[in-house]
Amino acid sequence: MDEVQGNCRLCGQKRPLRKSHIWPAFAYKSFVADQSKGGHFLDLNSEILKPTNRQYKARWFCDDCEQAIGIGESSASLLCKQILEEGVGKDYPYDEGLLHFATSMSLRMAYWLYEGKPISEAYSPALKVWRACLRNKRKDVGPYSQHCFVLIGNEGSGVLSGQIIQKEGFVVSRVGPLIIFGLLTGRKDMSLSRIKVQDQSKIHAKGGSISRITTFLVGNRGRQNNIIMEWMRCLVNQRSETANRISAFKDQNDEYWKQLEGRNKRNA
Ligand SMILES: [Zn+2]
Repeated sequence: MDEVQGNCRLCGQKRPLRKSHIWPAFAYKSFVADQSKGGHFLDLNSEILKPTNRQYKARWFCDDCEQAIGIGESSASLLCKQILEEGVGKDYPYDEGLLHFATSMSLRMAYWLYEGKPISEAYSPALKVWRACLRNKRKDVGPYSQHCFVLIGNEGSGVLSGQIIQKEGFVVSRVGPLIIFGLLTGRKDMSLSRIKVQDQSKIHAKGGSISRITTFLVGNRGRQNNIIMEWMRCLVNQRSETANRISAFKDQNDEYWKQLEGRNKRNA
């Protein structure tokens, strides 16, 4: 096996690094890749939209840390499976694995989106806390909280994506029916009303329950919301961008699209 030494991005030690998935392997297997076509899926992250079976990987972690970072995956995988079977119209209980999983997603996404360029200094405290939590050195992520919603959009269940909204200081990851927001700059300067809305979707270290986006109203009625304006705006933008890309792809690849659509319907 080819061995590449480097500084592990979790423990910081110089060790042989393993190639690990950026989005977890279970995600490709259970709701992205069409197994009947050799694991092909439509990659929304690439510049040019095309069916592919390429799974994103990076050499970031040593053997031990690769194990440590994956601890929450079995909880997340079961949760996703349950959501796809039972639909988005209810709340889902989760265990302590979800905070671990969400933290690992947010960390991986920050590394991936900044790959090849220096990560903003403003995010260092958050990344430090997230790493400590993933290494089991602390139980919670403090002000750099993780938040989660159940979501199946028009695009179907097979979406893997990631984005950092710098101005608002958060990273957002989609893993099939889960959408995860991680606070990269904590709660500094945040209004109480925003914190109150935000806390409804906060992932707790000891477990809790997650729900879909139930209410989003503007103006005075916004007090009933369970998602903040900044996150909603991000989702709406993502959705319209995805819709535009997909419709352009559809025009050029009619046959492939029909097959993909048939599969997504069975999964929805
Ligand atoms: Zn390590």
